[in-house]
Amino acid sequence: MTRAEFLKLIAAGALGVGAWPRLVTRGFARPLTVSGAAPGDTTGQLWQPVPPLSAEPPSPTRFASSGPGLGNRIAITFDDGPTPGVTEKVLRELDRRNVSATFFMIGRNAERYPGLAREVADAGHEIANHTHTHPPLSALSPARASHEMRQAQDVITTATGRAPKWLRPPYGAFHREAQGPLARSLGLGVLYWSVDPRDWARPGVNQIINRVVSATVPGSIILNHDLHAQTAQAVGAMLDRLLEKDFNFTRVSGFLGEPYGPYQAG
Ligand SMILES: [Zn+2]
Repeated sequence: MTRAEFLKLIAAGALGVGAWPRLVTRGFARPLTVSGAAPGDTTGQLWQPVPPLSAEPPSPTRFASSGPGLGNRIAITFDDGPTPGVTEKVLRELDRRNVSATFFMIGRNAERYPGLAREVADAGHEIANHTHTHPPLSALSPARASHEMRQAQDVITTATGRAPKWLRPPYGAFHREAQGPLARSLGLGVLYWSVDPRDWARPGVNQIINRVVSATVPGSIILNHDLHAQTAQAVGAMLDRLLEKDFNFTRVSGFLGEPYGPYQAG
């Protein structure tokens, strides 16, 4: 058989897979997934297909509430700031231990305290979107929900010089099917959490620390709020105890990658 005939047969689909050179069949790789991941949940996926370069792919919205725990990695996140008098203390405790975190800022607060918002970004932490005025998004019309996300995106980007990649819906209230595409259109993945010490209810410093330390496992995303004095007081000892347990802190995009872009270590 000549080369031309061989190619013609392949084009006609007449040859089975066995007719292909070994090199071609060996080129396929299956994605590895962390056990326990739900079907369609790409959170734990180590390998992801590269989207075609041509037209905009009809990519689904990315949702996550934890990351792959490889390397004992965890992410600590702070919502509702920046808050003068609290955020600075949190930054100091993180800096003392050389820990990177992710801050889900309320747009209105970043607008009101742009210097403090910039300080968070300049310290090397990831900046993320927590809507403009902190409403339960699932109760809003598509137009208002979209406005909440977009307005926050604009003012946070202006204040910090960084465009958020992840959105955290206040109270976790989000209509995944109807509102997911709105987040997607702004380039935002939707990030929940897996460890919640309910620090907003001010249960006491020791209670906040114990709840976090006992619930954290590799891959955890820890929810905190740089809004309350108790949280700021708890952060130092919380970080120390997690570091003693050999956890490695990463920014959210450090282990989940960017929601719609290539994996980026960090
Ligand atoms: Zn919040």
